Amino acid sequence: MDEMELMMHLHRNNKRQGPGSEEFVSLALRLAKVDTDKSYKIADIGCGTGGQTVVLAEKLKGEIIAVDLFGEFLENLESCCKEENMSAQIKTLEASMDSLPFDKEEFDIIWSEGAVYNIGFRKGINYWKDFIKPGGILAVSELSWITNSRPKELEDFWNGEYSEIDTVAGKIRVLEEAGYKVLGHFILSEDCWLDNYYIPLLESHKGFLEKFGDDETAKMIVERDIQEVDFYKKYKDYYSYGFYIAQKL
Ligand code: SAH
Repeated sequence: MDEMELMMHLHRNNKRQGPGSEEFVSLALRLAKVDTDKSYKIADIGCGTGGQTVVLAEKLKGEIIAVDLFGEFLENLESCCKEENMSAQIKTLEASMDSLPFDKEEFDIIWSEGAVYNIGFRKGINYWKDFIKPGGILAVSELSWITNSRPKELEDFWNGEYSEIDTVAGKIRVLEEAGYKVLGHFILSEDCWLDNYYIPLLESHKGFLEKFGDDETAKMIVERDIQEVDFYKKYKDYYSYGFYIAQKL
């Protein structure tokens, strides 16, 4: 089994595959000034197993297309939708976020939590803009520096992992350059990382190792997760996900 398939096994039974929370979905919706009486057409891009998709479906009327590259994540979301009676509202689509079969100006809202980095923030927000109606909303979370300066070890690490990492002001500039008006933004809190993402992930290591513990790649993935969590705990005052709520002009 290759690294991707192993990662899928490790993450597929978790509610989230990145930091976030129900409270912050609500805050983003408030900043977007959505009208809960209206029906919206929404795309949730890089939805994973759909932790945030289900929250959106609970809070908004209309239709959500939940997009991910990996069918296994979407299968889990589909079973969850059946259990919650949400299958009519949430449709899944297995596709890559940089090659979407959507029509121009099809969506009122494009939502994407912790996922756009896969193709890069600048590329993603520019490409997705075509699919948003004029006046429609882009709500996107993205790894961001939350202070003006930071230790060199940290800066070097993230520049190596994701060269587009930037300050909140830098991310806002990229959105403005792409023709969006930023309606609001906030920083994800520690519980979004630890309680909602890292702790469930560390808990799923046990079962994962019981199944795949003889595999060197599986052991490496577990080791890498542990290091990532330690790194987060050490440097959490300097980086987080910024959540940006922007309107297409
Ligand atoms: N939004 C979810 C998942 C974030 S993890 C959450 O916050 O919990 C990032 C997601 O992006 C994963 O589900 C991964 O499968 C998906 N992904 C990675 N590359 C992708 C691509 N090119 N197109 C679509 N989805 C992709």
